[in-house]
Amino acid sequence: MPAAAAITLDSPTETLAPMTARRVKLLRQLDILTLGDLIEHFPHRYQYEAAEGLISDLVEGQIHTVRGEVVACDYIAGRGKPRFEATLQDESREKLAVVWFNGHYFRRTIHPGIQIRVQGTVRIFRNIPQMANPKMQRVDSDDPPIVESRIRPIYPASADLKSDEIERIIGEHLPSALPLIEDFLDEDRKARHQLISRAEAFQLIHQPQTLRDGPRARRRLIYDELLLMQLGLGISKSLRDGRVTAPQLKVDRMLDERIRRRFPFALTAAQTRAIHQILRDLQSGAPMNRLLQGDVGSGKTSVAVYAMLVAVANKMQAAILAPTEVLAEQHYLTLCNLMKGSSVNVGLFTQRTKRLAKGELNRALSNGDFHLAVGTQALLQQDIEFANLGLVVVDEQHKLGVKQRAKLKTKGYSPHYLVMTATPIPRTLALSYFADFDLSVIDELPPGRTPIRTSLFRSDQSTPAWDFVRKQIEAGRQAYVVLPQIEESPTEDIKSVKAEYDRLRKGPLEGLTLAMLHGELSTEEKQAVMQEFRSGTTQVLVATTVIEVGVDVVNATVMVIESAERFGLAQLHQLRGRVGRGEHESFCILISDTQTDAAVERLQAMCRTNDGFEIAEIDLQQRGPGEFFGTRQSGLPEMKLADITREIELLQICREDAKEILTADPRLAASSRRTLRNALVKQFGDTIQLAAIG
Ligand code: ADP
Ligand code: MG
Repeated sequence: MPAAAAITLDSPTETLAPMTARRVKLLRQLDILTLGDLIEHFPHRYQYEAAEGLISDLVEGQIHTVRGEVVACDYIAGRGKPRFEATLQDESREKLAVVWFNGHYFRRTIHPGIQIRVQGTVRIFRNIPQMANPKMQRVDSDDPPIVESRIRPIYPASADLKSDEIERIIGEHLPSALPLIEDFLDEDRKARHQLISRAEAFQLIHQPQTLRDGPRARRRLIYDELLLMQLGLGISKSLRDGRVTAPQLKVDRMLDERIRRRFPFALTAAQTRAIHQILRDLQSGAPMNRLLQGDVGSGKTSVAVYAMLVAVANKMQAAILAPTEVLAEQHYLTLCNLMKGSSVNVGLFTQRTKRLAKGELNRALSNGDFHLAVGTQALLQQDIEFANLGLVVVDEQHKLGVKQRAKLKTKGYSPHYLVMTATPIPRTLALSYFADFDLSVIDELPPGRTPIRTSLFRSDQSTPAWDFVRKQIEAGRQAYVVLPQIEESPTEDIKSVKAEYDRLRKGPLEGLTLAMLHGELSTEEKQAVMQEFRSGTTQVLVATTVIEVGVDVVNATVMVIESAERFGLAQLHQLRGRVGRGEHESFCILISDTQTDAAVERLQAMCRTNDGFEIAEIDLQQRGPGEFFGTRQSGLPEMKLADITREIELLQICREDAKEILTADPRLAASSRRTLRNALVKQFGDTIQLAAIG
């Protein structure tokens, strides 16, 4: 047998011993591929587990664990709360009464003769010790007793890999992992902020000895996450600022008027203000790094298009990146419409066009035939070259990360950046992710928008909703019906759209003109379907979320969203923004049978308010900032522990520390910073090019 290779934190789980193929597979389902992933699978909470004791020794008011035989049990549904009662007897011959309110489920699992272990707080009731709603486990006589009280970590788990087993696996491998963990903080800094060592933090987060250990361990690990993020941001800033310049674009009155004439409407005062701020940046010669914030439909895209046309007028290319392919296609349609009859060429770059056009699109981009490029972040992939990239616009919840920037830089581009978001930025986030952005806010909607009335229906009570839709259409209006996109399977999407289209056509909306729109249609087919809808020939459009952005039919006044619980709050708000654009009163009908608290809260928020800021706040609370801002795709480090909306104290410390470290040593070149540097490169990839900056 060959000698085992030395274990590192990057060692794949299948090379670890002990390990089984089953566990490798189950771990993979939890995204655990390496030893490092394994020990970074952190418990999300802890549970105090008391050692087993005898019933005769129970003390009122304390948490105890007892094991015994069920000698009697009964489900009582009569008077009062329905409850399941059981009596346990253990070797002390004493009895313990146990009750679970609403414990219907236990009728199937608990019966006289079996052994169970219960843990809970003891009360004495009519001289008999009692536990209400204790934790319960079935045990066999030969299961070892819990002899020591301890704090048990509870891990994010799956149906087949339970927290207990994860705990055992981590217990098996933590000892070999701990010596591999390098500490990138010097003693000084640890002492200053009262932080424990990194290895100790890993030990204690998994195996706390006291109730204080978990929080101490988390504090150190959160510090590390935030410090790396702040260093990454700091380096990204010096990538940009430093000696970096961006093209100095020229704008005059004539150009301004020419661009404004392109839009079929007058820009609002708020749009004009944002444009002035952007123009100041574009003319300065320093790279623009601006966040454009405004509610759905406030006209951000129009402002971005203005900026893109300034770039084009200066003989430079501009790119706009959307979070999904469908949204990219929508932007593409919008731009093509706006540019109709001009000499400006727009290119669309998605997986689909890549398949269709082979290398042709890339050539057109690299030789400058395309002035504007629309795409997903795939646009920044290796094989794509620009002739002369002057401006990058990033749409919705998508921050261009350090990685992507560094990549553009290595290709020799240093464009201006404009990031659009419908999300107001809370203070903590402003201190972190967006610390190095200037902010423009569009705080005014274009004229003529009417507030939208939103209501919620259960699917089995939705007849009045469909009757209402029919009435609106008979009054000359049009409607959207939106179904959730099933991302894993585009064919399922089409099926659900098709099925609902058929059902509506033959049932609730019989006799009306319906059409379908979904992501599998080609751009031309989509255009044709939309054209029919715009012209009013189609009365009801049954669609996936392809209509989320850019669709603008003033006569459409009803938006029905089915299985509404499947959508995020921001997305619901985006969708709703497709109606309420004209003189007629508009309506949003949510259909959902959900019982989940979070989903119900989302849908109720939709019914309560049209205010995008309020909706964004609720969304942030529900989802947390990571998912919210798409940090995964953005190239920013993914936060495993830090909840950035709460960690204001540590965040501020880390900002100061990062600044101090980078001022002293911008390239992290000192040998004492080798481990820190390695951690950063690991987090951001080689693209961060630590050697090249400073
Ligand atoms: P956002 O990107 O902020 O959601 P868009 O730029 O897509 O908003 O604009 C939403 C809709 O409003 C678009 O159909 C656009 O044509 C229209 N619009 C934008 N600005 C104005 C304006 N000043 N007056 C009237 N309509 C406008
Ligand atoms: Mg938009």
